[in-house]
Amino acid sequence: MNIVEIIEKKKRGNTLTSDEIKYAVNGLLDGTVKDYQMSSLLMAICLKGMNAEETTELTMAMRDSGDVLDLSDIGKTVVDKHSTGGVGDKTTMIVGPVMGGRGLGITGGTIDKLDSIPGFSSDVSDEKFISLVKTVGMVDAAQTKNLAPADKVLYALRDVTGTVDSIPLIASSIMSKKLASGADGIVLDVKCGSGAFMTDFESAKCLANAMIDIAHLAGKKCTAVISDMNQPLGYSIGNLLEVREAIHFLSGKTQNPRLYKLVVELCSQMFKLSDEYTEISDSEVEITIKDAISSGKAYAKFKEFVCAQGGDVHFVENVESDSLVIEDIKLDIVAKKSGVITGIDAEKIGRASLALGAGRETKESEIDLNSGIEFKKVVGDRISKG
Ligand code: URA
Repeated sequence: MNIVEIIEKKKRGNTLTSDEIKYAVNGLLDGTVKDYQMSSLLMAICLKGMNAEETTELTMAMRDSGDVLDLSDIGKTVVDKHSTGGVGDKTTMIVGPVMGGRGLGITGGTIDKLDSIPGFSSDVSDEKFISLVKTVGMVDAAQTKNLAPADKVLYALRDVTGTVDSIPLIASSIMSKKLASGADGIVLDVKCGSGAFMTDFESAKCLANAMIDIAHLAGKKCTAVISDMNQPLGYSIGNLLEVREAIHFLSGKTQNPRLYKLVVELCSQMFKLSDEYTEISDSEVEITIKDAISSGKAYAKFKEFVCAQGGDVHFVENVESDSLVIEDIKLDIVAKKSGVITGIDAEKIGRASLALGAGRETKESEIDLNSGIEFKKVVGDRISKG
């Protein structure tokens, strides 16, 4: 095979074969395909697109470039919950514990946020990953070195060649890691709005469908929820502040209505993907969640999960009781006039929290785990001057 012919074939808008896609991806890893050739192919894919079969072949080639976890001896359905990322999104920390009592294995990733709990580690070996799903019922793990390594190399190239914003490339990148993690089913939370990758509903739907097609062609169950990211999710942005909001949600202290609605929807989709709960109704899901919270089971499951991944449970309890004061450097933003909040721009408020240190400006930036923004009022709330 010849990489130049493959690039030219895509440049003319033709469909690549499975062998051609494998040749390009494997060649990039073994050095027979150069960075500049792959960059050219990525740009051709950006401009001409890929059909569902090509996108799946690309995903499989990336998945097979590293370890593929075998979770078959866990003995229950394992569901992976993935969010495409949004401002204030702390749902992973909530859906695991509120469903945890039902014996489903749940995997997900909210790495930086949970890092604000001293000792917590999302750096888990494959063996520990499997054992945590078996014993605790949930795990939150960072991408290991050998999980879809081709995706890491490709993403680094995309980042510097203006080829990130392509639906087949985003879908295959995300799904290569999902398929390598070995879950039986995948629930995708595709964010849509000013604070997300996909700013309009049609492109969010295209991305969701592209990922679902890949999962189905790869023999996995998969559904997607498209959720609004024009305003931040919940009452806080920032690592520890979001962990605190998740803990307060789980212990029943405060529950932002939009966050609550999304948690119910995601849990419902996750239950329905499992063989055990295919027929569960939305009202049964809500009863399960309410019961897990009011009985204290959800908060207890969160503490069990934190402890199993090395986190300091005493710290969690202090956060829950608000005895850790994180208000020593604080600025109140007060209303200049009375009225109703009609919008909180997720993109702008996300940038403001980045400037405070709550996120990374570059890959090397250190995150300030304690900084962030808290909303006393959200969209739709009445406010009075002052
Ligand atoms: N997240 C990923 O993992 N890959 C992309 O290409 C975009 C978002």
